[in-house]
Amino acid sequence: MQNHLNAPLEQLKIVIVGHVDHGKSTFVGRLFHDTGSLPEGKLEQLQAVATRRGVPFEWANLMDALQSERDQNITIDTAQIWFRTRKRQYVIIDAPGHKEFLKNMITGAANAEAALLLIDAAEGVQEQSRRHGYLLNLLGIRQIVVLVNKMDLPGYSQERFNRIEAEFRAFLKTVGVEPLSFIPIAAKHGDNIASRSVNMPWWTGQTVLEALDSFRVTETPAHQPLRLPIQDVYRFDERRILAGRIEAGALRVGDRLVFAPSNKVSTVKTIERWNAPVSDKAEAGESIGITLTEQIFVERGAIAALETAPPYELSRFKARLFWLGRAPFSKGRAYKLKLATQEAECEIDSIERVIDSSTLETITRPESFVGRNEVAELHLRLKRPIAFDVHSEIIPTGRFVIVDGFEVSGGGIVAADNYPRRSADSLQKSHNIYWSRGKVTADQRALRNCHRGRVLWLTGLSASGKSTIATDLERELFNLGQHVYVLDGDNMRHGLCSDLGFSPKDRKENIRRVGETAKLFAGAGIICITAFISPYRSDRDMVRQIMGPGEFVEVYVNAPLEVCEARDPKGLYAKARAHQIKDFTGISAPYEAPEHPELILPTDQLTIAESVARIIEYLQIQDAESAVTI
Ligand code: ADP
Repeated sequence: MQNHLNAPLEQLKIVIVGHVDHGKSTFVGRLFHDTGSLPEGKLEQLQAVATRRGVPFEWANLMDALQSERDQNITIDTAQIWFRTRKRQYVIIDAPGHKEFLKNMITGAANAEAALLLIDAAEGVQEQSRRHGYLLNLLGIRQIVVLVNKMDLPGYSQERFNRIEAEFRAFLKTVGVEPLSFIPIAAKHGDNIASRSVNMPWWTGQTVLEALDSFRVTETPAHQPLRLPIQDVYRFDERRILAGRIEAGALRVGDRLVFAPSNKVSTVKTIERWNAPVSDKAEAGESIGITLTEQIFVERGAIAALETAPPYELSRFKARLFWLGRAPFSKGRAYKLKLATQEAECEIDSIERVIDSSTLETITRPESFVGRNEVAELHLRLKRPIAFDVHSEIIPTGRFVIVDGFEVSGGGIVAADNYPRRSADSLQKSHNIYWSRGKVTADQRALRNCHRGRVLWLTGLSASGKSTIATDLERELFNLGQHVYVLDGDNMRHGLCSDLGFSPKDRKENIRRVGETAKLFAGAGIICITAFISPYRSDRDMVRQIMGPGEFVEVYVNAPLEVCEARDPKGLYAKARAHQIKDFTGISAPYEAPEHPELILPTDQLTIAESVARIIEYLQIQDAESAVTI
């Protein structure tokens, strides 16, 4: 077999999937033979070996033999095998098990554009056939042809073929997959592979080769927004070259690029290629290096985009995930998420739905986990914001894998949601604004103050005790000689936020300004306490994201609604019950409890003093851990 890497022929990557014994190797062997892609004399050689041993020749053995030769020949790309038709060249992405397949697909090592899915005519649709159907859809492979193999076993029965097609088509429809066609074949005998089968005169549809040649080569996504995940940074002399593969879009010398997640901006000075003519532009699919006009610090994992169309950059997103790990994907545990060249620690934020991938039934269970071979719709939370896109918009930066220990144990795609996007305008502004660092460091301030600057974000229902605890805590910390300040809601609305009303948009903006202000206080080394109901998780997460690590302490002041209503110090609940206040949190508007707050204070069980003591204890432990000593 030759390596056709440099051939100018059009190329299409396909993946062949199917249940273990549904005849994949035999099919591939036959395909190679019928397309004249086998090395000279190979078939005859193996046939002779079989005759000598007195065993029947097996097409599957042919592929095994080629595989082991290939494994020894390091000059050939071992992850892929090639065959060609008159029309084009095909690359078969190796899919030994669905775990490897998923891993290869999602990491982009093997980006198949079309799939052949094999089903055994005698055995019919198996669990794994259904899983593969689901996986193909999850991974966004839209061109799928189903091959009903081993048609010789049920006597080339048209009725059997029709039954399998009807059953599987109905299943695929429920997962949103519409195969281009179903073809009855018998790989072992070559029926309907390269030529029409004489055994199935009833079949008037395509042969496998015709079906392959009618697949479309997906256009390289050059018209999409640029996404260049940085793989490595090389230093040559004084120059630094950022290397990576353009996953989407195109790039030209002179383009202004923004690098997520740091949001540093610079201009492309040169485009570097290895063994290729110099050019001032490059597009999706090319592995290139770039140099920049202004030196900025960029590391592996950064994603370069045009300033005008950056990716999302958040630490929480909605996903559809397929789990393959032996141990379940469980809430409360940390995992590693890889998306393009980025890596970040993640955990389950909330699970919306768990589905059995073969029956597609929703699984109801009290605990929060996703088991092996289950699919889930869930929200993931990351330890730091990462850059991503929605899978239906930009595939390579819209999919990820989850690593449990050292193993890729699951993968999925980023689902569409209401993600806030940084406007081009805000990016435009931001590259002339730098966060001024000054000459006094946070550590120096902490050393002088004997504590770090922090934001204590008290959230909870009205009358849960936030303001009471905040003011008592302020007094207590002040008495201890600490630098502390309560950001009061009313005071904020008097001045900084006087232009804001109470619409959802204004409320969100109010919280954002409180968060930004609190951040400045924390930066000044002060313990800044805020007491806002802040009922929406996304708003609190937004604030968490603008803070430095460990700077944001979410305190859930948690008292049951009945208790709050009984306290009702301002008579607000009574008014809300009398419909005099609309959209009142807890009564007529939702409160989204924090899922992983740093502290929970059940104020129906703790006295005010006890709550205050708990916070102080928490702060002391944190300061001890971050080694603030005098
Ligand atoms: P919020 O700021 O959360 O709306 P407030 O602090 O204004 O709540 O009101 C809470 C009311 O509940 C106060 O009148 C407070 O004295 C009373 N309260 C009674 N027991 C407790 C407790 N254990 N913790 C906090 N507040 C309590």
